[in-house]
Amino acid sequence: MIDLRSDTVTRPTAAMRRAMSAAEVGDDVYGDDPTVNRLESMTAELLGKEAAILATSGTQSNLMAVLSHCERGDEYIVGQQAHTYRFEAGGAAVLGSIQPQPLDFEPDGTIDLAVVAQAIKPDDFHFARTRLFCLENTQGGKVLPLEYLEAAGATARKHNLGFHLDGARLFNAAVKLNVPPNTIAGHFDTLSICLSKGLGAPVGSLLCGSQALVKKARRWRKMLGGGMRQAGIIAAAGIMALEDHVVRLQEDHENAAYLAGKLSELDEVSIDSGLVQTNMVFVGLKKGDAASLQAYLHSEGILINTGNPIRMVTHMDVGRQDILTAVEKIKGYFGSHS
Ligand SMILES: *Cc1c(COP(=O)(O)O)cnc(C)c1O
Repeated sequence: MIDLRSDTVTRPTAAMRRAMSAAEVGDDVYGDDPTVNRLESMTAELLGKEAAILATSGTQSNLMAVLSHCERGDEYIVGQQAHTYRFEAGGAAVLGSIQPQPLDFEPDGTIDLAVVAQAIKPDDFHFARTRLFCLENTQGGKVLPLEYLEAAGATARKHNLGFHLDGARLFNAAVKLNVPPNTIAGHFDTLSICLSKGLGAPVGSLLCGSQALVKKARRWRKMLGGGMRQAGIIAAAGIMALEDHVVRLQEDHENAAYLAGKLSELDEVSIDSGLVQTNMVFVGLKKGDAASLQAYLHSEGILINTGNPIRMVTHMDVGRQDILTAVEKIKGYFGSHS
């Protein structure tokens, strides 16, 4: 199957499986797993932070961040469509009594800083205490401009807010901008990165920040059931993901641009090529419908999600030939539905 649903669908490579089976391990809850320790220290260094901690998922890592920045009765500012608000089952509210203050993303994935400043509650007992500002990068495949991050950081500092990045696809953003990842990370107090998206590891995320914050996060991780024992088996894949799979994200971006270009030639679809910045293509249908396209492509060996527009994602396990095949099959769908 050619799977364009997400970059989470990648399978570990043979080399990754070898690294996992050969990993030196210990009990990570005792701090004894040398491979986890190495992954955490190399990630902290790569992102220019004092410390990092391995989490089971990006959801857990973002939740550890919100719980560590905020107390019961606090609130965090977050995008209305942000993963941290919309797709993480309301964890901060459920488990931390921390309320979100969602604000709309602008078309470029930023949040208007004047709107952020407006949303910060006055110091008055009627209100929740606004404590944290969260961004997402990439946001729907779009890369936040560095000048915006600078200004957003200044806004956070001015209002005494913590500043967190959901950097599930931070490395896609860094590769796109052709900057080291710490150029982006440096603007934030904390950030969460995913190993299991475009980097191709089977599982794992890391939360990075100050020693003090990561120490707090370690307690929350334990409470959330994220204290894993011989987790070096997972960390070994993560190390390989960071060492070997960052540079190649460029290929995914080129494949996405290629896919967008080929599909743009079809009268039946509409694509805003300005939104195709990294590994995602959003495909609007002028003819047919997403559910019947999905069913048709499934029978032809291609997996997509439905939606309007339909999000198609490139990754390690789809090559240029697969993209060509997908384009031909999509053409076939329109041919048979004319
Ligand atoms: C995937 C993703 C996460 C984390 O998701 P998990 O499936 O919990 O690892 C967080 N933020 C964004 C933007 C994501 O795409």
